[in-house]
Amino acid sequence: MARDPKYDILFEPIRIGPLTARNRFYQVPHCNGLGHGHPRSEAANREIKAEGGWGVVCTQEVEIHPTSDVSPFFEGRLWDDRDIPQHRLMTDAAHEHGALTGIELLHSGFHAANMYSRIAPMAPSPIVIDGEYPRQARGMSRRDIRDLRRWHVEAALRARAAGYDIIYVYAGHDLSVLQHFMKPLYNQRSDEYGGSLENRVRLTKEVLIDVKEAVGDTCAIAFRFATDELIGEDGLQVSGESQDIVGMLAELPDLWDVNIADWSNDSSTARFEPSEGYQESYTSFVKSMTSKPVVGVGRFTSADTMVSQIKRGVLDIIGAARPSIADPFLPRKIDEGRIEDIRECIGCNICVSQDNLAAPIRCTQNPTQGEEWKLGWHPERIEGAASDDPVLVIGAGPAGLEASLALANRGYAVMLAEASEALGGRINHESELPGFSSYGRVRDYREYQLSQKPNVDIYLDNRLSADDVVALEIPHVLVATGAHWRRDGIGRAHLRPIDGLEQVNPLTPDDLFAGAEPGPRVMIYDDDRYYLGGALAEMLQQRGHQVCLVTPDVRVSNWTSHTLEQAKIETRLLDLGIEIIVSHEIDEIEAGRARLESNLRQQREVEFDSIVMITSRIAHDELYQALLANEDRFATLRAIGDCHAPGTVAAAVYDGHYAARGLQREGDFYAPLYSRELPALD
Ligand code: ADP
Ligand code: SF4
Repeated sequence: MARDPKYDILFEPIRIGPLTARNRFYQVPHCNGLGHGHPRSEAANREIKAEGGWGVVCTQEVEIHPTSDVSPFFEGRLWDDRDIPQHRLMTDAAHEHGALTGIELLHSGFHAANMYSRIAPMAPSPIVIDGEYPRQARGMSRRDIRDLRRWHVEAALRARAAGYDIIYVYAGHDLSVLQHFMKPLYNQRSDEYGGSLENRVRLTKEVLIDVKEAVGDTCAIAFRFATDELIGEDGLQVSGESQDIVGMLAELPDLWDVNIADWSNDSSTARFEPSEGYQESYTSFVKSMTSKPVVGVGRFTSADTMVSQIKRGVLDIIGAARPSIADPFLPRKIDEGRIEDIRECIGCNICVSQDNLAAPIRCTQNPTQGEEWKLGWHPERIEGAASDDPVLVIGAGPAGLEASLALANRGYAVMLAEASEALGGRINHESELPGFSSYGRVRDYREYQLSQKPNVDIYLDNRLSADDVVALEIPHVLVATGAHWRRDGIGRAHLRPIDGLEQVNPLTPDDLFAGAEPGPRVMIYDDDRYYLGGALAEMLQQRGHQVCLVTPDVRVSNWTSHTLEQAKIETRLLDLGIEIIVSHEIDEIEAGRARLESNLRQQREVEFDSIVMITSRIAHDELYQALLANEDRFATLRAIGDCHAPGTVAAAVYDGHYAARGLQREGDFYAPLYSRELPALD
């Protein structure tokens, strides 16, 4: 199919300094937890985006010197010439597909604890380092400043030697020493680098000029700048000094890459920023202050919105991190008139969570993300079927849907049976929670794709029994029947059932989703600690209940700190008037009353009309267990997704995809020949 002409503007080449990008699609620098720990995976991850049509693909942040060492996180590293070959892997691969490559050079200042290099961290002025590590950063001397400028230049030269086209100077996300110098909160210097705005911007200006002099004849220089930190006068803000900073530096870089800080605002989840283009009101002013092209982000997945950004003069180039993770082929799909094939990001930040956990990237929507080199998975290509055998998939939640789609793409004839009248499984309930509608994309993308496949038959309203399945005589069966929430309190805090709970008729999330109506005062006991407890509290409070949310964890919805949502969730719940009790476990339950005890042995009571237990789930695997009794009748019999082991939606999608890729493959199902990065012992 051909591209719709209304999207032509997105495919116009654009000049960036001495270079020309082939189109307006730009994968901005984003972390992926691969970096210098997994250089081949890193290269393959970016290469596939180049293949998918992005005009520019960038690295993640790249440490320029051992004084900026973010261990244990695997970001990029360019400390000396020995790092160059790793980067060459990426630039060569991306260039083969016609993309320009960008590198985000970074000195982290007091954000880096330097846990590997063990050098004392640096900051404009002495300060406790960012994070939990018990260490302080020293204030930088003039010599340090001269060194920092030199390190930037040396790193830029190495970056050019590694084949990069666009070299970044970075002052964003509150992560860069250059930005730290700009902020009076961190910079109390009395020399020419502190005090007035001109002095605080001096170092950034010098580095921009230095880097341009060093490599600007052949490379483009990008400046990444956070125009607003959304913390008022303590940070950069559009209504404060940001416009003056842009004015001072306007023509120095070849490209402005603008966003908001910190990372939780830049990569806001859909729960807190439901609309595409949510940064526009903070970044759109930049274009009026510079003649250089401007790239910006906003979880753009709609080609119409992208066109509108350019036509309205908000941005020149469409930047994307998460949309390029969920669908590395997004530009190609627009180009080929295949809009409905775009796998849209749902804004869940599972990708971000992995980086925060110092683990390789993954994505709820794109199970191949991060597996491009390790498992050789391509997001758009898959190995053909190993036989003409049909496959039965039972259950159409995220795991069953993804398995069916991947199997259909392999060419298998797929029968998908679902007990209820709709595809989607848990997505159908969870996407109804306040702020979660984008989760519906997990279902919608797959439902549409399956509807286009001649080799897929879907049977709704079909609850299969073991006898039904055996009678079908289908050789390969994947059981994706999900899981349900426990009622007995067992979870992390309680490894045994909670005494007395059964006498107060506890509700579970499944009951609420099925329409159970709790009494006026609701106590939610959240030992799951991810999003569901907070989201159900929000939903019930909005419906007029008085909610008290109790969690054994030290913070409400604590795991969401990894998805950058925790502080926002806490604020929202408090604003709604929800009572939050942290660090307390249920000690005793009796009619209408729970006695809680904290880790400091303090006791308190909560009175309730209804109690909702969100602790852990039980695999809904009765069917699977019954089929195991007839295992010899099947060539393949596997439980997948939550039925196998309850977890995130991302884990279920991955599990479904993994099972589909592995169907009829020889060898150990759980240990295929992973490509592994092994340190060379020379
Ligand atoms: P997952 O996250 O692993 O995909 P879900 O709980 O979202 O799991 O989805 C499981 C799906 O399986 C639900 O839609 C449920 O209706 C369906 N299901 C459960 N038991 C059966 C069965 N015996 N036959 C067909 N479908 C079933
Ligand atoms: Fe988007 Fe979630 Fe995938 Fe990240 S993990 S790219 S937020 S769908």
